[in-house]
Amino acid sequence: KKIIIAIDGYSSTGKSTVARQLAKKLGYIYVDTGAMYRAVTLYAMKQGYIGSDHFYKEALENSLPLIHIKFEVNPKTGLAEVVLNDKNVEKEIRTLGVSRLVSPVAAVSKVRKKLVEQQQLMGKDKGIVMDGRDIGTVVFPDAELKLFMTATAKDRAERRYKELVERGDKVTYEDVLKNVVNRDHIDSTRKDSPLRKAEGAIQIDNSNLTLDEQFQQILDLAQN
Ligand code: C5P
Repeated sequence: KKIIIAIDGYSSTGKSTVARQLAKKLGYIYVDTGAMYRAVTLYAMKQGYIGSDHFYKEALENSLPLIHIKFEVNPKTGLAEVVLNDKNVEKEIRTLGVSRLVSPVAAVSKVRKKLVEQQQLMGKDKGIVMDGRDIGTVVFPDAELKLFMTATAKDRAERRYKELVERGDKVTYEDVLKNVVNRDHIDSTRKDSPLRKAEGAIQIDNSNLTLDEQFQQILDLAQN
């Protein structure tokens, strides 16, 4: 029987790695909801609605009907990539520039409402692994399996820093650490759907687990 697996947690706790592995193993769809919030943020940046010193929230709210987000599978990697208004923006949404502005955008209720509705539609046939911040609390409160992932800020920043450097981004470890801590703060203190452990969620602290150990643990949970 197909189920819904909801994975939430702080930034860079390895949610997407586990979610992707699980989906592959179980033959499920994987949806990275952070990518959707990042795509809306990229749109707002391109329109000039948000920058380091301003946020024209109403302008973004009014243009929400013009923002179309979907996923397409890259035939080379087999991985889903995010498409914003018919343009593949998978690379662009992963920059530190987007990471710095995504949490304020994600705190806007109208943005959340739009994306949550789309996410719920994606999961209507079950057989889905979805990761984010509010999946077990808001998007699928009845999910059969809910996980809440944590790790120390230092471990998380190191992971994200390595990823960014591997892609050729010029960033410092300190900037990445600051971003991770700042996003977690905004995400867990916002009014609408603050990040927290969902009722019934199993907490997984992966600071001391290898990826394989962690995956095995979670696969056992999904299959029982
Ligand atoms: O998962 P990722 O780190 O790419 O998410 C980027 C940001 O999008 C988060 O820091 C958070 O502000 C927002 N987000 C959210 N709800 C989700 C997924 C992401 O608010 N379900």
